Amino acid sequence: MKDDKLFLEIKSALKNIEIFDTHEHLMYESERRTKKLDFFMAFYFYTSTSLVSSGMKLKEMEKLQDPCISLKNKWDIVSPYWDFLRSTMDFKVISIVANDIFGVEKINLESIVEITEKINETKRVEHYKNILKERSKISFVVNDIDNFGEFGVKKIVPDEDYFLPVIRLDRLMNANSAESIEKIEEENNININSLANLIELIDNIFEQRKGRIYALKTAIAYCRDLFFEDVSFSDAEKCFIKILKLNNYTNRRNDSISLDEIRPFQDFIYHYLIKKALDNDLPIQIHTGIIDGNANDIRNTNPAHLTNLLLKYKNAVFDIFHIGYPFTDELIAMVKMFPNCFVNMCWIPHFSKYLYKQSLNLFMDILPSNKIFGFGGDYLFVEGTYAAQKIAREAIAEVIYERVLNKDISIDDGINFTERILNKNAEHVYLKKESAESA
Ligand SMILES: [Zn+2]
Repeated sequence: MKDDKLFLEIKSALKNIEIFDTHEHLMYESERRTKKLDFFMAFYFYTSTSLVSSGMKLKEMEKLQDPCISLKNKWDIVSPYWDFLRSTMDFKVISIVANDIFGVEKINLESIVEITEKINETKRVEHYKNILKERSKISFVVNDIDNFGEFGVKKIVPDEDYFLPVIRLDRLMNANSAESIEKIEEENNININSLANLIELIDNIFEQRKGRIYALKTAIAYCRDLFFEDVSFSDAEKCFIKILKLNNYTNRRNDSISLDEIRPFQDFIYHYLIKKALDNDLPIQIHTGIIDGNANDIRNTNPAHLTNLLLKYKNAVFDIFHIGYPFTDELIAMVKMFPNCFVNMCWIPHFSKYLYKQSLNLFMDILPSNKIFGFGGDYLFVEGTYAAQKIAREAIAEVIYERVLNKDISIDDGINFTERILNKNAEHVYLKKESAESA
């Protein structure tokens, strides 16, 4: 039996709770203003994966991301597959964005023209302030965009008090060719002749960005498994020298060593990065579980591979992304065991609301509430973040409502729990604010 009054009371109490957003890839607004945008910007990540999974050719998908192709052509590409997505969260997110932000009810050729016009109008106003701060009530965003280009040593980050940058050195760990080493040398104006040079570069990157970064991030599970062996400097160096030797043959500039072969080097570097994170008091964000795109090996992403790191670095804070899904059960057991291991629900609200609710219920039964980070949109476009927080708030309200109805918790307990997972836990870990327990 549904108690509508109780549900509305809980929903409206949770509506105004501020969110500390633990993970996004949002481009800065100044950059967004210079870009040609259209309705299909909503198809980067996630929806593109679903469309290709449903049968769309990759080449067609690429056309959707080309700003020079007409909306009519793009709609012709999408429409044969669109209906297959109707029950999915991809569809739900796009509907929320169309309805709530652009006042459009149905998605069709006519309405995507209208939405595109409205999207371009937002380039003239304070769109981010409106969407993130006012409508989504997001107080901070931990933003992972720094490393899409250069390492960001020289880059000025606008609005650094709101978009908290992370440091991500995956490209450095994946440097397995003469070309990739040369690129690192050029960007940083250095010569790399030994592993010691590379370590020095890492030290410099951390030094130059001291006090201006909020986490160490890796998404290396897109390229390999997450078991990082404790490798000695000399074993790592032997491996790194193989990469440097490629440099000796100019006609072999494009040659590379397989990522498998450079494992000892990667393992060593990742341990080194963790030590740097510890020295700099930075939480360590690790991508685990679900993977975007249409070809990869999900077995690599099991968070259980991280066990040796959790055992070794007891004082670190490991923020484990995407609830490790489909390995969520393993992750729950790990978060329960290890004081240094936290679960992060980023990407999950709009991956599956059902999964978000089901996982939250398990977390509430099993985990202390200070071990859960409840929100990260993991979006490139700000409207997606709005939709994700709307879905997350609804999902949490539904879970809390059930528990209040069953007299497992009081409304106040539910509000306190929500404040922790959406805000206080992240403020505590990322901004070193007062402990959540004192709330
Ligand atoms: Zn991400």
